[in-house]
Amino acid sequence: MDTKRRITILGSTGSIGTQALEVIEKLSDKFEIIGLAGGNNTDLLLEQVQKFKPKYVYSAKYDKCLGEYAKYTDSLEELCSLKNETDIILVAVSGKIGLRPTLTAIENGIDIALANKETLVMAGDIVMAKAQENGVKIIPVDSEHSAIHQCIKDINQVKKLIITASGGPFLHKNVEEMKSASIEETLNHPNWHMGKKITVDSATLMNKGLEIIEAHHLFNMDYDNIEVIIHPQSYIHSAVEYADGSVVAQIGVPSMHIPIQYAITYPERFEGIKTGSFSFVDAARFDFEKPDFEKFPSLSYAYSAGKKGGNATAILNAINEEAVFAFLDGKIKLYDIYNLIEKITPECDFIKYPTIDEITESDKHARELTKIHLQQKHVNFC
Ligand code: MG
Repeated sequence: MDTKRRITILGSTGSIGTQALEVIEKLSDKFEIIGLAGGNNTDLLLEQVQKFKPKYVYSAKYDKCLGEYAKYTDSLEELCSLKNETDIILVAVSGKIGLRPTLTAIENGIDIALANKETLVMAGDIVMAKAQENGVKIIPVDSEHSAIHQCIKDINQVKKLIITASGGPFLHKNVEEMKSASIEETLNHPNWHMGKKITVDSATLMNKGLEIIEAHHLFNMDYDNIEVIIHPQSYIHSAVEYADGSVVAQIGVPSMHIPIQYAITYPERFEGIKTGSFSFVDAARFDFEKPDFEKFPSLSYAYSAGKKGGNATAILNAINEEAVFAFLDGKIKLYDIYNLIEKITPECDFIKYPTIDEITESDKHARELTKIHLQQKHVNFC
C-alpha cells in the first residue's frame, strides 16, 4: 500500500466496526477514513468522529453535534456513492440494511470488505453478478470465509470447502437443556465475542447455516461441496480441499482483528494489532466432530433453502432474525426459533428469479408473518 487506502465504515459503532477502528488506528499511516456510519449509539459515533476525523458521517439517529465535525450525509447509499473519494467500504452493519448500500458501492466500482452476511444470504446471485460486472472485489470479513479466501490460490482447482464451527454453548448439551436455555446461557459463547444476534445464531448453528449460503456465493461452490465440521477450539478457521486431495487450512488465535485487517489491507499483510503468535504446543488438541443435524436443524434449513435458491434464503434469514429478536425480548424459547422457521417458511411465496425489490418484499412479508404468529402464539412453545 504505497498510498493511503481511503476507507468508509458502515456500522462503525458495532462489534466489527469498533475492532476495525482499532486495526486502522494501529495502521494509521496506511488508511484515510472517508466516512463513518453508525446506528443508534450516537455518543460513541461522536467520539469516533472526533478522534478519527472522517470527511463524512451518517447516523441512523441524527445528532446535530456530528455535523460540526464532518459533513453529514442523508443515507448510507450517499456514503457509498463517493466513488472518487473511496477505495474500499467495510460493510459492518448488521441485518438487512447492508444490502442496498453494498449494491450502491458495487455500482460505483468501490471494493467491499464484507462483514454483513445478510447481503449475500438475501441476494447473493445479484450481488456477485454485479460485482463481476463492475470489476469489484468482495473480500470476506467473516472469519471462516476469510480463512477460505486465504487458502485459495485457484478456485478452479478446489474440490470442497470445509467450514468449521465451534458448536456454540450447547454443543454437548441435550435437546431438553437447549429448550430450557436462558438468554444468558445462549449469549455465553465459548470462543468469540460478538453482537447479540449473531451470538444467538451461533448457539442455534443458524450462523453456520447462513455461512454455508455465504460461502456458496462468495466462492461459487455447489452446496454439495460445502461441508461443516465442528471444531470446538476454533483454531482452524476453515479449510479447502483441492482436487488432488490436499487440504489447506488457515489457523490462528480466534480474534476478529485478523480477518478484519486482512480484508482491508488485502493483498498485503502487516503486523497490526498483536494477537499473539499461535502455538501448536499450547493448543495441544484439535478436536473435530460431525454436526448433529437433528439437534441443530438450522443446517438442514440452510442447505435446503440454498439449493432451492431464488428468494428462499432471504425468507429463511427474515424469519430467523425476527425469531431471534423475539427470543432476545424474552417472548419465546430458543427452540421456538426453529418452530417458527418450520411453520412460516411454507406460507411464503417462492420466487425463482427475484429482483432486488422482490427480495426486499419477500423479506418484509416473511417478517410480518412471523410477527403475526408471535402475536397469536401459533408456534409450539416448548
Ligand atoms: Mg463466522
